Amino acid sequence: MRVTWTGAAQLSFRLDPEDEITGRASDDYPIKLAINSCSITGVPEDAHPDLYAVAAWTVVAPWTRRRVTFDRAISAELAEALHDGFGVEAGPVGAERRRPGARLAISYSGGADSVAAATMYPDAPFVHFQRVPHPRVPNRWPHYRSDVLAKLAAKTGRELTTVSSDLEYTLAEPRPGYPEHHAVAAGALLLADQLDLGGLGFGYELGSRWLGGDRYLGRFTPDNPMWAPHGRWGRLFAAAGLHIVLPVGGVSEAVTMRLALGSPLREQVRWCLQGVDGPCRKCGKCFYKELIQAAVERRPLDSPMKAEHPSVRKYLKKPPYGGQEMIQYGLSRVPGIEKTVLAPALDYFDVGEEATSWLDHCYPPALEEIPEPWRAEAAAFVEANVGLMTESEVRQVETWGSGAGA
Ligand SMILES: [Zn+2]
Repeated sequence: MRVTWTGAAQLSFRLDPEDEITGRASDDYPIKLAINSCSITGVPEDAHPDLYAVAAWTVVAPWTRRRVTFDRAISAELAEALHDGFGVEAGPVGAERRRPGARLAISYSGGADSVAAATMYPDAPFVHFQRVPHPRVPNRWPHYRSDVLAKLAAKTGRELTTVSSDLEYTLAEPRPGYPEHHAVAAGALLLADQLDLGGLGFGYELGSRWLGGDRYLGRFTPDNPMWAPHGRWGRLFAAAGLHIVLPVGGVSEAVTMRLALGSPLREQVRWCLQGVDGPCRKCGKCFYKELIQAAVERRPLDSPMKAEHPSVRKYLKKPPYGGQEMIQYGLSRVPGIEKTVLAPALDYFDVGEEATSWLDHCYPPALEEIPEPWRAEAAAFVEANVGLMTESEVRQVETWGSGAGA
């Protein structure tokens, strides 16, 4: 793989003979390449070469088989992290490594999880990634209202940098999106010198970090390759002097929802990518988050969606599936759930509240893995607003998906 940056941040890449246009993201999901160029705007003209290298790697990693050649020399430490973590020869080598900056920024999407992360660090600046169309790829996703999310981010009153990028259109399949989940940080990486960043906070919560949720495994994953500090991406970001920080990595989506709705940013919370004046109430994300919100607010489910909707149907089948812990949480707490479309799912779970009380507390190892400069602030916030899991609740996390847990 040969990587070239031109202008402020125009990325193009050329595959080597052994590379392929099909590959797998770090969560093992199969993906296919659409086009070999993209751009990022809203970033400075210059940054440390390791930052350019990691930003590019978030886009080209799935296609690269044996080596990656950057257009500017990287540090030996970064080359080593690429070699050890991804099995690729990376070069040329010749730069001094980047020293971490002093500040933590939040990679801010506006969803409940990232609002909760932001609430833990009231002084942290935001970097918001805004999808824009690619000049050479037809936009078949005009219903995706990234402009609405960017406007909401601007209303938070926080120090905010919005970067616009078409990098999601480098993916042909399954749909436009991040080639690696970390591509959402491409702009923040290029801003790290200018903003003096040493850490980047993401809104990944307990399910994503520890339970193998989303597109991933569905079992306890302390060595999660995407988000563990000792995983390959964690070590790569650290080598570039920008630590991955998961402020809400120890709490469930019930807790992030509660924190987000109780935060000063409440009016700007938006997890739906389709609605304009509010959430669309018709998409899968809206349904899932409405269940969690209703559970947190202890009120009946308020959704127009029917059992035939694919996003409802998926919760009517037998587990396992990603996010099932939150479905169980919702089923056990939403009043009148037996009279809703989700009634058939009640058969699959223990819906006694005790069975899901662990989802109201923080998994302590998640705080321990927050880098030292930012740990105390997170721990104090958790102590005041959430509380730590008991030993038996910790066991629920650590036996998740093994058949020995809930
Ligand atoms: Zn929606």
